[in-house]
Amino acid sequence: MFETFRNWRRERILRRPPFDDRMWAAVLDRYPFTRPLSADERSRLRDSVILFLDEKTIVGARGLEVGHEMRLAIATQACMLILNLDLDFYRGWTEVIVYPGEFVAEYDYVDHDGVQHHVEEPMTGESWLAGPVILSWEDAERRGEAQGYNVVIHEFAHKLDMLNGDANGYPPLRAGMSREEWTRVFDAAYRGFCARVERNEQTGVDPYAAESPAEFFAVLSEAFFEIPEVVRAEHPEVYGQLAAFYRQDPGLRLAAAREHAAEAGAR
Ligand SMILES: [Zn+2]
Repeated sequence: MFETFRNWRRERILRRPPFDDRMWAAVLDRYPFTRPLSADERSRLRDSVILFLDEKTIVGARGLEVGHEMRLAIATQACMLILNLDLDFYRGWTEVIVYPGEFVAEYDYVDHDGVQHHVEEPMTGESWLAGPVILSWEDAERRGEAQGYNVVIHEFAHKLDMLNGDANGYPPLRAGMSREEWTRVFDAAYRGFCARVERNEQTGVDPYAAESPAEFFAVLSEAFFEIPEVVRAEHPEVYGQLAAFYRQDPGLRLAAAREHAAEAGAR
């Protein structure tokens, strides 16, 4: 009975998207990871985006007016992560707060010696456990400028990580995946990455990933969608785990789209 009601409600929402075809085509054309999507993937992504926009509230802060296009841009990127999962992966919270630019996060913590600290830190994005996702629109718009940089994917990857508690780089795994394998692969890759960053070596993905295992997972997720070939070349095992977790292979998709374009060009 409940399932029937849920499906009925879903169908009803899907029939009334809060955007038109022109806006949808424009948003798909904006991102390197949405451009190569197949017709079937585009249609599934569109459904998730409509349901996401119905379920979540996206509000502006510090005077920012959040328009339809901004909402659609955020929802589309967020739903890329769950394209082959389910909207249920974003359960337990409803709000996305968007600042015009960087915002200051304030928090208190007690260090090892029991000393209380008050920190004010400029942020481009933040995810709260069972709370909102906070984004800087200026940074969310920086797509294509810095390769592999995507604050929306980054924060929503933290949200998936938080499905089983604090963000720690260990999201709840998909059926058939091995926790031991995930731990082994990510621990080794993280340690290797930190060593490279310490030696000031050039890395394909943002050195901020060395901050913690949670940031490593979020940054590698950004890169997985934005620059999949770099992740596959530098961290092949991590790439395999991310492909299994997200149930999609952006590198393969990109290569297929390129081949298709080359064929079309040769014709
Ligand atoms: Zn982060």
